[in-house]
Amino acid sequence: MSDATALPQRDLFDLPEGVVYLDGNSLGPLPRGTAERLSRAVGAEWGAQLVRGWNDAGWIDLPDRVAARIAPLIGAEPGTVAVGDSTSVNLFKVLAAAMALNPERRVILSDAGNFPTDLYIADGICRFRGEGWRVEAKPSEEVEAAIDESVAVLMLTQVDYRTGRRRDMRAVTEKAHAAGAVVIWDLAHSAGAFPVELAACGADFAIGCGYKFLNGGPGAPAFLYVAPRHAATVEPVLSGWMGHAAPFAFDPGYRPGEGVERMKVGTPPILSMTALEDALRLFEGRDLAALETRAQDLCDHFIAAVEARCPGLVLATPRDRAVRGSHVSFRHPEGYAVMQALIAQGVIGDFRAPDILRFGITPLYIGEADLDRAAEVLGEILDSGSWDRPEFHARAKVT
Ligand SMILES: *Cc1c(COP(=O)(O)O)cnc(C)c1O
Repeated sequence: MSDATALPQRDLFDLPEGVVYLDGNSLGPLPRGTAERLSRAVGAEWGAQLVRGWNDAGWIDLPDRVAARIAPLIGAEPGTVAVGDSTSVNLFKVLAAAMALNPERRVILSDAGNFPTDLYIADGICRFRGEGWRVEAKPSEEVEAAIDESVAVLMLTQVDYRTGRRRDMRAVTEKAHAAGAVVIWDLAHSAGAFPVELAACGADFAIGCGYKFLNGGPGAPAFLYVAPRHAATVEPVLSGWMGHAAPFAFDPGYRPGEGVERMKVGTPPILSMTALEDALRLFEGRDLAALETRAQDLCDHFIAAVEARCPGLVLATPRDRAVRGSHVSFRHPEGYAVMQALIAQGVIGDFRAPDILRFGITPLYIGEADLDRAAEVLGEILDSGSWDRPEFHARAKVT
């Protein structure tokens, strides 16, 4: 189904009137109908069925149902995705599995501009493992040249959270495999934005968020992917009972479940998983390639509109649509205050330290008119200097 021409369809979501929402890559908006679905899960399931809900409301299979909905969005073979925990925790799990596949080597190679949690988790697991394990975080443009036979694991985020630059998953994975490295892809800014082809690119492992382009709600469960060639042999480092071959046998000893099942850990968060399952309706039968084309047209449109209206801003995102994700960023030395001033006028984007104004572009509910309005308001704020007020400089806990 190629439905991209019918977009934007703002009424797929409960978006507040008058808001231009350019932050769906940080927290996707509330899909229409999800509030009612959640309310049923609370009242008719938890409230009325009580513990029987695990069977009668199908809670126990909910993680697998959600995984089956996510798999086609990321080009994963059936039965290779597990849903649960946060992206950070899933990274820990797949890193441990990846490190064990290359026990003679000691280096986790990554990008110094990677999202900090990825680097923190990798540092932490190296400290925990000891034995000379270390992270080598190279400047973004030097990572690919640094792939050599010392690298045990290459850990990269496909789309840079600041600049939106997208890596060539196939070429990088091939290069890493030629050097004998195992590859982990973070799909935080990819899943739900454009077609990802994990299997076709030969990826070993992947992780990603449920609350960004997948619209699963604040703190939605994350996902992980294990290639079929590894799934039957990886040893889960977090060997919890939900990953056991028979959780309700209550065996004293651990036996890993089949394939990716073993990467599950504890009791799934049913309410937030219900929201994610419901949100994924919006991707059923959707042509992700058409969505990507539309998103890139919108990114081009936004870049042109902002550059025409705000000549002082510096584009941080590649102009070449073949190498970018689904957000556009500009640099401004007072980016924090500028973004707060924009938000105060109903144009919601993100600030990312030190100087990035970031705008997520989601064709499901964003169209040219929204982007023109955002560029116009941004221009007015910069021309008038209205961003330079104390209330816009005061930093909130979440930026
Ligand atoms: C958003 C994001 C995360 C978030 O991790 P959580 O554990 O969900 O907080 C991780 N990695 C990248 C690249 C991200 O953009």
